[in-house]
Amino acid sequence: MGTCEEARSFYICAEIFLALSPLGERVARDPAMRDAGRVRGSPVIRASMVVTYAQAISVVQERIGQANPRPPVETVSLEDVRGRVLAEDVVADRDLPPFHRAIRDGYALRAADLGVLPAILRCVGEVPAGQHFEGKVDPGQCVSIMTGAPLPVRADAVVMVEHTRSLGERIEIQRSVQQWENVVLQGSEAALGACVLARGRRLRAAELGLLAAVGKVSVAVYGQPKVAILPTGNELVAVEQRPQWFQIRNSNAVTLSAQVTEAGGVPIQLGIVPDREDALREMIQQGLDSDLLLLSGGVSMGKFDLVEDVLAELGAEFFFQGAAIRPGKPLVFGRVRGRFFFGLPGNPVSTFVTFELFVRPAIAMLGGTVFEPPVLLRARLAKPCRQKTGLTMFMPARVCVQNRDPVVELVNWQGSGDLVGTAAANCFLVIHPDQTELGAGDWVDVMPEGQ
Ligand code: AMP
Ligand code: MG
Repeated sequence: MGTCEEARSFYICAEIFLALSPLGERVARDPAMRDAGRVRGSPVIRASMVVTYAQAISVVQERIGQANPRPPVETVSLEDVRGRVLAEDVVADRDLPPFHRAIRDGYALRAADLGVLPAILRCVGEVPAGQHFEGKVDPGQCVSIMTGAPLPVRADAVVMVEHTRSLGERIEIQRSVQQWENVVLQGSEAALGACVLARGRRLRAAELGLLAAVGKVSVAVYGQPKVAILPTGNELVAVEQRPQWFQIRNSNAVTLSAQVTEAGGVPIQLGIVPDREDALREMIQQGLDSDLLLLSGGVSMGKFDLVEDVLAELGAEFFFQGAAIRPGKPLVFGRVRGRFFFGLPGNPVSTFVTFELFVRPAIAMLGGTVFEPPVLLRARLAKPCRQKTGLTMFMPARVCVQNRDPVVELVNWQGSGDLVGTAAANCFLVIHPDQTELGAGDWVDVMPEGQ
């Protein structure tokens, strides 16, 4: 094994895959997009299938979309449903608002009565929120009304109290209003029976409020995908353990667990696995009980990076084996025995960034929501910046507001192992491959954390 001939035939397979793939792009043939044939002493030949950032995003989206994940459905009560994904369409159980609602404190009246100002109207009653006015408002009359109260019959506008003067029973109105001004019409937010929240929507605070507003005390939601976390590396020790000077604490499992939870998954910690094929094989198989397997480390070209070899022996299909990004280039995505997996590079910032870019949207799809790649926002660059890597760069940075513009500045960091710098950041500055020179004040893309 490991001859040039075999490496070449693997390349051809990779090319055919990529040519046939929906990407339709000649990724494998583009020398800038691939490493030289990577052949190691191990039994598995790893022809390079390195894709661009945009290609990697669409491969993840298409592969998971084609698998058409159908998470189970369960009913959960309103108080426990935050962060879950709706498995039903929710409809308004009555008009919203249920009546013409006053949105200012003032006087309900007929706009046509204000042709000449100031107008003097007779106040015939009062209607606070939670009550309704039994009578009607005839020409020349008004009713004192509070925010949230139903507009009395025949009134068609509200004048704010600030533009009035009370003269006992008579009220002086100093400003005119349009018809329906300071009123939200019945059913204008949603009519009875209209869909207010569609299946697939993640339930945040605003959605929970809306569920409450339409009387949903329990709701059908999708089961959360179980995401197995498998950190690999002989150098790793448990966080509770005191590391020897040459060892590293297993921080990735903690970061990934938090990210999985934020993304709507349930993290399953499998514990540290050493860089040994037998141990890896056993733990990967355990990980396949979950809906998604995340490995960290062991996907680079080192002698002890065995993850891809073991996955290949287990019959994995690889959809890509490397992305033209930094940090995170050795990233691997594929499927084995019907389960998707990501092999994330072990450096903590690489692990973090590749999760945000690819795993977060993958978990969303597995959990019944639509695929949404990270949204990039724009900010002005604080200091000039150069890069000639040909990669899409995601650099830890801080964005703040200066003179009303968002301004982004790189944090001090030492590369993809530096969690100190990353923890000081609140976003990533995104530099695209063609942006070789950027000047201070240029508008650039930033990716906020935790979308
Ligand atoms: P690897 O991708 O396996 O070559 O790992 C690269 C580097 O990332 C290692 O040398 C470690 O310093 C670091 N690393 C790997 N796994 C972890 C982990 N679970 N937690 C923290 N750091 C890690
Ligand atoms: Mg390693």
